Amino acid sequence: MTGPRVVIIGAGVVGAALADELSAAGWTDVTVVDQGPLPATGGSSSHAPGLVFQTNPSKTMTELARYTVEKLSSLDVGGQSCFLQIGGLEVATTPERLAELHRRHGWVTSWGVEARVVGPEECVALHPLLDRARVLGGLFVPTDGLAKAVLAVEAQTRRAAERGVRFLERHEVLAVTQDDGRVTGVVTDRGGELAADVVVCCAGIWGPRVARMAGMELPLTPLAHQLAWTGPVPALAGQTAEAVRPILRHQDAGLYYRDHHDRIGIGSYGHRPMPVAADDIAAFDETDGMPSVLAFTEGDFAGAWTETRSLLPVTRDAKVEEGINGLFSFTTDGMPLLGESSQVKGFWVAEAVWVTHSAGVGRAMAEWLVDGHCSSFDLHECDVNRFEPHQLAPDYVLARGCRNFAEVYDIIHPLQPAGAPRPIRTSAFHPRQEELGAFFLEANGWERPQWYESNTALLEGRSIPAPNDWAARYWSPVVGAEAQATRETVALYDMTALKRLEVTGRGAAAFLQRLTTGNVDKSVGSVTYTLLLDHDGGIRSDITVARLGRDLFQVGVNGNLDLDLLTRRLPADGTVAVRDITAGTCCVGLWGPLAREVLQPLADTDFSDQGLKYFRAKRAHIGAVPVTAMRLSYVGELGWELYTTADLGLKLWDTLLAAARPLGGVPAGRGAFNSLRLEKGYRSFGTDMTFEHDPYEAGLAFAVKEDKDDFTGKTALARRREQVRRRLTCLTVDDPGDVVMGKEPVYDGDRPVGYVTSAAYGYTIGKGIAYAWLPAELSEPGRALDIGYFDRRVAARVAAEPLFDPAMSRLRG
Ligand SMILES: Cc1cc2nc3c(=O)[nH]c(=O)nc-3n(C[C@H](O)[C@H](O)[C@H](O)COP(=O)(O)OP(=O)(O)OC[C@H]3O[C@@H](n4cnc5c(N)ncnc54)[C@H](O)[C@@H]3O)c2cc1C
Repeated sequence: MTGPRVVIIGAGVVGAALADELSAAGWTDVTVVDQGPLPATGGSSSHAPGLVFQTNPSKTMTELARYTVEKLSSLDVGGQSCFLQIGGLEVATTPERLAELHRRHGWVTSWGVEARVVGPEECVALHPLLDRARVLGGLFVPTDGLAKAVLAVEAQTRRAAERGVRFLERHEVLAVTQDDGRVTGVVTDRGGELAADVVVCCAGIWGPRVARMAGMELPLTPLAHQLAWTGPVPALAGQTAEAVRPILRHQDAGLYYRDHHDRIGIGSYGHRPMPVAADDIAAFDETDGMPSVLAFTEGDFAGAWTETRSLLPVTRDAKVEEGINGLFSFTTDGMPLLGESSQVKGFWVAEAVWVTHSAGVGRAMAEWLVDGHCSSFDLHECDVNRFEPHQLAPDYVLARGCRNFAEVYDIIHPLQPAGAPRPIRTSAFHPRQEELGAFFLEANGWERPQWYESNTALLEGRSIPAPNDWAARYWSPVVGAEAQATRETVALYDMTALKRLEVTGRGAAAFLQRLTTGNVDKSVGSVTYTLLLDHDGGIRSDITVARLGRDLFQVGVNGNLDLDLLTRRLPADGTVAVRDITAGTCCVGLWGPLAREVLQPLADTDFSDQGLKYFRAKRAHIGAVPVTAMRLSYVGELGWELYTTADLGLKLWDTLLAAARPLGGVPAGRGAFNSLRLEKGYRSFGTDMTFEHDPYEAGLAFAVKEDKDDFTGKTALARRREQVRRRLTCLTVDDPGDVVMGKEPVYDGDRPVGYVTSAAYGYTIGKGIAYAWLPAELSEPGRALDIGYFDRRVAARVAAEPLFDPAMSRLRG
């Protein structure tokens, strides 16, 4: 097998890894084109100091890094290893950072990498240049180390070349050619076209320029980052080995360090963001060899040098001898950009990838290209098609890219909203929510209330337990009161931020039927909770399909990736159309035991149990407002999702709230919602389950109609059903002060056995709730386990789910 004709643009550490992995998988009709000379092409990889810290809040990113460590450790050039496994040490100089290192220890343990938190003495034993008096503790990961990026390029390109891959150095791509929405090749400055069926842009900081050749906007900002090298440090005289001490991070000051014989390399994120437009970066020939290197601005490094001389006192006898402002890529959410353009078939990107993740990304991209999906890594957070339209606006890309640079080492709370630019998207209800003192967080760019200060009066007579300090951020006791009020009376939830698609046309029913695990080809008015699967049975999304007409469906989805998936699979005959209707519409969830008392008097149709059964939809008027009402609830109470157009949203809100108030009804926020959904065991895609999980493991077998003729993933499911080795499991914790936040490791004795996905306090059941992935044999109710939370262990117990109303009497009444 030689595979299709592939052109990879860029032979940095990412392009080289991809060429190696593709050729190993049997695709050898591959040409790699680079404007610079191999192996030091003049891109970011040519001067990266190569520190590989595997710890990351994202499981995927840690796994990509782990693969990179394993692969590069096995590669050498002339006996010189591509990876120096000297360990990685992150130190704390403040109590807050020490706590953060414990949290980071939790992540890396959750994701299966061995690590330990060490005291100040051990920090100094591991890295004797540290000033003992400055350090409070550290996180040590023995398998971290230094990737030799240029050697890694050389080793991987050589191997690929031996398998037949062609490398064209000193060829600059000037154009990407296409025909009828499909890529056909690239044109270089050497003239002529290189024909291709697949073009992969691995052009690093030049990515936006190259992607634009294919009509694609890449949300990526090249930013300068300062890297300096000391001259000889007298105390290190005679050190012949390149590196003997662990790579070091001092995140309180935005700094990192590595050995280089008797010198020290110092990297700084402590300076002002220095963005550069991709179009302003020189081509290889326009510079003296390193277009990704700008002149060192010494003034920006002053603070870093002062801090270095304090943390590593031996550097007081040395000087900064050289430095660069080196360019590399930042994105709006800190994650890479991987995948195929939604506009031009065959044009792929692998961009904004650190050396740390490079080999993993090479592997992931090769699987995706060759097999049609990636089975080794869950890439949903990295997919280039994940963005909402406003997230591609140049102003947004620049502002968020700079912010990510500034925050790269910051302690970020899981609920912390990104700062400017905000607000961006506001729902029709926003003016009223502001009047009601909503505390807003951001969801897909939408301002979404977390709770309402106007509900403070609800606290009277209630005793809402306070969580621990960390969980108490972005929290108010009002969250608990709103949750309880929803179960007692009725509440209005703004559900606008959830994406909605309209699927129409003669072929719509058959199209959705083919894509989903359920039966959606039912009577008009039916609503179906169902799944989109990968060909290997992994969950791509959970969606709600409402049939509003013979050829008209409203589909509630999780984000832009779902729109992308549906659009890609549209039949070519034009019988189906998909449209994102989110922006022009809005949605109120009206839920609680008194929901019918609020709605029925306002409505022109019957909302009794028989008038609109559970999981049915119909059109109605609520006062003056035409709505689509769907009887379903993510909080486990009687009620409806009420959709209308954005212009009528305020009227709908006012009408409902005015009718709810006399019955004790309130507006309620996402904090309450999250607690209520976990009491009911309702999963959230992207947090509880992702591409790597199947419906049986995730507790979603009820959404699979196994006797259905055919649907994407059906064949793979038959095999996966027989092999359930892990389960998404409900745990409870007794003490409200033990509420965790998600991503913490779960222990069976001292053995890490899984990790938490979602967590919240259940204000009805009076317990903390944590859903976690665990080995199947540990998932029986009653089993005692521990959750690692910062530096302590929280006792937890597996519970039968759902924790609230298992008979579903509240929903069906
Ligand atoms: C100072 C500094 C320190 C860093 N430290 C670390 C670190 O310690 N650890 C870490 O993991 N990461 C680090 N990074 C980040 C890391 O270097 C980059 O993220 C990574 O090297 C990007 O690899 P790449 O292959 O995507 O890009 P590059 O290495 O830039 O490769 C892109 C290639 O595309 C080619 N190209 C572009 N346009 C064209 C065209 N039109 N035609 C032909 N060829 C083209 C370029 O010549 C280049 O060779 C650092 C970066 C800098 C600048």
